[in-house]
Amino acid sequence: MSTSKPRIAIVGYGSQGRAHALNLRDSGFDVTIGLRPGGPTEIKARADGFAVKTPAEAVKGAELVAVLTPDMVQPQLYGEVIEPNIAPGACLLFAHGFNVHYEQINPRDDLDVVLVAPKGPGALVRREYEIGRGVPSVYAIHQDRSGNAEALALAYCGGIGGARQNAIKTTFKEETETDLFGEQAVLCGGATKLVQAGWETLVEAGYQPEVAYYECLHELKLIVDLFYEGGITRMHEFISETAQYGALTRGSYVIDDNAKAQMKKVLEEIQDGTFARQWIAEYAAGNANYKAMKQGDLDHPIEAVGKKLRANMKWLANAPQPQAAARP
Ligand code: NAD
Ligand code: MG
Ligand code: MG
Ligand code: MG
Ligand code: MG
Repeated sequence: MSTSKPRIAIVGYGSQGRAHALNLRDSGFDVTIGLRPGGPTEIKARADGFAVKTPAEAVKGAELVAVLTPDMVQPQLYGEVIEPNIAPGACLLFAHGFNVHYEQINPRDDLDVVLVAPKGPGALVRREYEIGRGVPSVYAIHQDRSGNAEALALAYCGGIGGARQNAIKTTFKEETETDLFGEQAVLCGGATKLVQAGWETLVEAGYQPEVAYYECLHELKLIVDLFYEGGITRMHEFISETAQYGALTRGSYVIDDNAKAQMKKVLEEIQDGTFARQWIAEYAAGNANYKAMKQGDLDHPIEAVGKKLRANMKWLANAPQPQAAARP
């Protein structure tokens, strides 16, 4: 097979799948999409001009199969569709190490098995590619039967634009554990709770909910943009002396030794498999707790306040559409 331009099947056309497919095609790869007929994203893939086949047919014709469905459906998909159809010696690629690391998928012995994980949501992977940049990506090799697994991972990484930035070599274990930790403790879990608790504190003290929204949620973007461009150093260059002194003396009231001890607990539950077992059991039982807790976030009063305020921020109409919503 061609190591520099393997024939690719992408199974799944959601956040990552669509971005990878569009970027790889623009990079000159032959890309086929595997989707369940009548599934929710089939129309989108066809509208984008891709050949869409059933997952089984797409897998059969490919030299490299990228598994870009939700993590929880991958084990059954692998067992029922991928393993029976994937060509001997082909390359199996994941964008997150979860199923291989926690042994929910044990790939066939003859396959190359690699990971290419962009460190950003799909919409950003596409947007950065279009403007000639790329989202930083990590890659890893789980099985190298052909002797070309690393070259294949790097070809894919280059094709989605990830190698334009530093592609960092990692392991399935490191990618899985750090990705879960980041989204749980800092990016999604931590940030959400920080914003909600800050807003609640101001509103409970009698301040206007709208003013509290701007201070605790809206302005977070300005700070995060500074982090993104130049780290915490850049934030200190741009905020007032008063804000700096307040941050330096009061930040650790909130994120104190106890908060850090809790972060260690989050990490331990990832490392010892507690989190994975709990999430797999929740999914298998129909996601009742997951759905109820998510509804709690959607029903939090800060959401109604924000919806009303954002209706008057006309520039947000041009903001990336929901599919851009970060799903690290
Ligand atoms: P998604 O939920 O956005 O999209 C899933 C796609 O899979 C949809 O097209 C859906 O129709 C399809 N699908 C669902 N069940 C299927 C089945 N049984 N057979 C065939 N197709 C099926 O998923 P996503 O967020 O892009 O995640 C894909 C992978 O990328 C995951 O491993 C995830 O951990 C990883 N990842 C995601 C992000 C992110 O920001 N979303 C970032 C890095 C890595
Ligand atoms: Mg302020
Ligand atoms: Mg200020
Ligand atoms: Mg992530
Ligand atoms: Mg993740």
